[in-house]
Amino acid sequence: MSQHSDPQCLFCKIVSGAIPSKKVFEDEEFLAFHDINPWAPIHFLIIPKIHLPSMAQIGHEHAQMMGRMMVLAPKLALEQGASPYPKGGFRIVCNTGSDGGQEVHHLHVHVLAGPRPWLKG
Ligand code: 5GP
Ligand code: ZN
Repeated sequence: MSQHSDPQCLFCKIVSGAIPSKKVFEDEEFLAFHDINPWAPIHFLIIPKIHLPSMAQIGHEHAQMMGRMMVLAPKLALEQGASPYPKGGFRIVCNTGSDGGQEVHHLHVHVLAGPRPWLKG
């Protein structure tokens, strides 16, 4: 069974407000905030408020939540200043596990946009 919140988790602390963040969006289900160490002119993270460690824990029961997160990404990218597709656009990244380069073990997608060059990628 997955916990809804992990007291040790950095992003759960951001959800609770114990650690401050520069908020991009919030509703009952999700929080989006600017990455503290951006690799692109626009770089924010979207996280579900419930604690799920990574994509590796995603099952059919999460399909609708994941769908809503993917619908949110392009909307927020445009709101944050991404130029429209196809000249503009954005990149969604979801690092999973050590080999996937994941550092914070609370499910999140990176949304990156803005004119290049970018620090990574
Ligand atoms: P990961 O490597 O797990 O996919 O990405 C974690 C991201 O969280 C990194 O890009 C890192 O800069 C960001 N991050 C780590 N700690 C904090 C924090 O305290 N606040 C914010 N806003 N971002 C953080
Ligand atoms: Zn968490």
